[in-house]
Amino acid sequence: MTQTAARFVPFGTTIFTTMTALANMHKAVNLAQGFPDFDGPDLGKIAAQQAISDGVNQYAPLAGLPVLREALARWSADYNDATCDPATEITVTSGCTEAIAASMLGLVNPGDEVILFEPFYDSYRAAVAMAGATPKFVTIKPLDGGFTFDFEDLKAVFSDKTRAILVNTPHNPTGMVMTDAQLVFIADLCKKHDVLAFSDEVYERLTFDGNYHRSIATIDGMRDRTVVMSSLGKTFSLTGWKVGWAIAPPELSAGIRAAHQFLTFSVPGPMQMGAAALLDNARDEIDRISQHYTETRSVLSEALSGLGFKVYAPQGAYFIMAEHHAVSERLGLKTDIDLCTWLPEHAGVAAIPPSVFYKHPEHGAGFVRFAFCKKMDTIDQAIKRLETALRP
Ligand code: GLN
Repeated sequence: MTQTAARFVPFGTTIFTTMTALANMHKAVNLAQGFPDFDGPDLGKIAAQQAISDGVNQYAPLAGLPVLREALARWSADYNDATCDPATEITVTSGCTEAIAASMLGLVNPGDEVILFEPFYDSYRAAVAMAGATPKFVTIKPLDGGFTFDFEDLKAVFSDKTRAILVNTPHNPTGMVMTDAQLVFIADLCKKHDVLAFSDEVYERLTFDGNYHRSIATIDGMRDRTVVMSSLGKTFSLTGWKVGWAIAPPELSAGIRAAHQFLTFSVPGPMQMGAAALLDNARDEIDRISQHYTETRSVLSEALSGLGFKVYAPQGAYFIMAEHHAVSERLGLKTDIDLCTWLPEHAGVAAIPPSVFYKHPEHGAGFVRFAFCKKMDTIDQAIKRLETALRP
C-alpha cells in the first residue's frame, strides 16, 4: 500500500528516471533523458572551483548572489530586450523546475485554473497539483511536418477562473518555436482575462533554420504579467548545476520568493559564481553549441527517416519527435510505450515515449522522442545500433 501523498500518486516516477534506468540496465545509448554527454565551458568550472577555494561556502542570499543577479539583468537586457532590477525582479532558483514550482505555489491559489499546452514537460502538471489548482489543456498538434496549436482551442480554455498560462517556447518535446503571431494571440487573451504568463524559456538560445526565440514578456503589455523562467543548463551544457531563475515584476517576484524561501531557501553559491562568469564571458558558446546541435540534429534526422520514422524537424530545443508507425508495425509493436520498452533491450538505444506528456495519451502514442544533445560519436553509435536492429 503506497504511503505517497494523494497529490503525487497520479504522477508516478518521472519518465526521465525510468528511461535512464532502463538505458543503464541494457547499456543502451541514452537518447532518452535530455542531458548533454559533455561538459560546458571550462571558464565556468574554473570560476565555480575558485569560489569554493575562496570561501563562498555558506548560504547564498535567498534571492541569489548579487553578482549573478546583475549578470542576469545584463543577459535579459541583451537577449530579451527587457531591463530589470536585480534587487526586486530576479530570483535565482534550483533550476527552472524550481522556478516553475515556486511560481505555481507563490502566485496561484487553490481552485484557480492554469492552462497548459500538451504535450507538457512533466513537472508542470505536478506543480499545478501541488498548488491545488486545476489544469486546463490545449493540444499542440502535428501539421505539415511541424507542430502548431489552434487559436480557437486556446480561446475556449480561458475562463474567469484562469490565473495563469504556462508557455514553453522553444517547446519540449515538439521543438515548436512560437511565432510572433502566436505570442500576440496568447498575450491578447492574457490581457483580456487578466491572466499571468509563466514562460519557460530554457531552450531560449537553441533554435534552428532561421527560427528565432522571442519572450512573451516582450509583447506589448505583457512585461507586468509575465514570469520569465530559464536556466543555465541547456545553453551552457551544465544541467547538473541546477542554476535557474525567475524574472518578474516586483509584485510577482515577491510571491515567487515567498515560496522559494521555504522550498530550497537558496542555491549553492559556487555554482552561482560559475553561472555569473558564463553569462557574461562565455557567450561565444551559444554559436558553438548551436552549430554542434545543427549537425547532430541533421545526422540523426536523416538516419531516422532512412529507417522509416517520419521526422518532424524541430525548430528549436534538442529533441526530435518522430512518428514510429512504419517501424513499430515491422516489429509487431503498437504504441510509443511498446517501442520505447523494446528499444533499449533489442536495439541498445533508449528514447522517450511522449504519450506521458499528454493529458490524452492517445495524442502522443504515435510518436517517439529522441534527444540529440550528445557528442557526434554518441549519435553515430546510436545510429549504427538502430540500423542493425531496425533496418527493413
Ligand atoms: N528536460 C529534460 C528532458 O526533457 C530532462 C529533465 C529531467 O531529467 N528532469 O529530457
